[in-house]
Amino acid sequence: MIISKNPYTGEEISSHHELSDTEVEKAIKKAHSRFRSWRETSFAERSNLMMKAAKELKDNSREYAEAITREMGKPITQAVAEVEKCAWVCEYYAEHAESQLENEKIKTDAKNSYVTYEPLGVVLAVMPWNYPFWQVFRFAAPALMAGNIAILKHASNVMLSANNIQKVFEKAGFPQDCFQNLVIGSKKVENIIRNKKVKAVTLTGSGRAGSSVASIAGEEIKKSVLELGGSNALVVFKDANIAESIKTCVQARFQNTGQSCIAGKRLLLHQDIAEDFLDEFTRQVRELKSGDPMDEETFIGVMAKESLAEDLEDQVKASVKKGAKIILGGKRDGTYFEPTIITGAKEGMPVFDEETFGPAISVTEFKNEEEAVDLVNSSSFGLGVSIFTEDEDFALKIVPRFEDGAVFVNELVKSDPRLPFGGTKISGYGRELSHHGIQEFTNRKTVYFN
Ligand code: NDP
Repeated sequence: MIISKNPYTGEEISSHHELSDTEVEKAIKKAHSRFRSWRETSFAERSNLMMKAAKELKDNSREYAEAITREMGKPITQAVAEVEKCAWVCEYYAEHAESQLENEKIKTDAKNSYVTYEPLGVVLAVMPWNYPFWQVFRFAAPALMAGNIAILKHASNVMLSANNIQKVFEKAGFPQDCFQNLVIGSKKVENIIRNKKVKAVTLTGSGRAGSSVASIAGEEIKKSVLELGGSNALVVFKDANIAESIKTCVQARFQNTGQSCIAGKRLLLHQDIAEDFLDEFTRQVRELKSGDPMDEETFIGVMAKESLAEDLEDQVKASVKKGAKIILGGKRDGTYFEPTIITGAKEGMPVFDEETFGPAISVTEFKNEEEAVDLVNSSSFGLGVSIFTEDEDFALKIVPRFEDGAVFVNELVKSDPRLPFGGTKISGYGRELSHHGIQEFTNRKTVYFN
């Protein structure tokens, strides 16, 4: 049995029968046989169904959001926003998939030569609990629109949401088995990747899980996309608009109770503005309302699992032992972790070197541009960086110096269906969203007419 528990109240919400190996095999067979007909459908047909999925999400956003909140402790207003964002990605691909996958003519010696984008077949998605709907839809919407079939292995603590996602596609009228949620633990993933009928795998989650999945996919010579952790820096230069950047940095770190791969986890402040910035930043973080995730007023909920709150506590404690200072918060009560600010962070401390997956931010001061760039790039992660400056020429000059998958200027790093999303270094490889995302799980077939 796989059990969903409310991390705020501790109550058991639902229990789910785990599929046996034979049942998994049967599900894959059904997915594979559905592929034969699904790949022949027109973009218009797929688009029509995807628009219906978007409508289903919008019409019932509150109901789906409540299940998310109960399962993983996300404040309800943020859960509703997540479900609505899923409708957006469905609409985006319903509208753009056809043009994004149009044949690409290339002039050669041939009478006619072009690249055509064809679906691969059954694609496995291994997904995390932190955005239980969004992580899945940003994979599933483009994958289905490209003509692929999706099978999902969701995180064990959000199986209710996983079933709800399958329901969305069923209610929208997608043919049976286009999208299947497999109720399984992570031990069953290996056999699925090795199954000949499964053509590719995508994983969003920890480096440990990503490395395991990618190794198996590598042995099988199957395509994989990995979206792993991040330790994004928020770099505030001395000419930044301080009031605006403080507001953005608070959101960047503390939304979703800090449990986001693209959250700004390391605050890097120019030494000339550090004190003033930090005074006001601390005041605003102190005012964030913690409480019952079901309460509309709550901004900081609880962490999704107690083990994750314990990990964060260990990272903070170990950093303090190495000389960091807690200037706000730092305490844990079960799954609740106080919004926390840690100053004096540097390389060698867990809050600087590792991904901190909860409401804690580390602060480091820098003297000049060189030092700022070195601090950003010293991370093993490379998902994204936000820089704050009023000097556009300076921003343009410094953007190429960062090794990350994204640079946002005067804005928090965020995902947007229109823009590619993904990292470098141990943050993973491949891209989701935009035309880059939909093309990942296609055969870019070269066609040549002599
Ligand atoms: P995991 O990476 O363990 O879980 C993510 C998904 O991978 C889940 O579906 C999980 O299934 C599955 N999984 C775990 N191990 C394997 C494996 N060996 N083979 C195949 N699938 C696997 O994340 P955690 O929940 O344990 O969180 C740990 C840390 O991961 C966080 O503190 C954070 O640093 C990072 N993380 C990053 C996320 C991101 O958005 N990039 C999202 C979530 C976590 P199951 O639940 O059954 O174990």
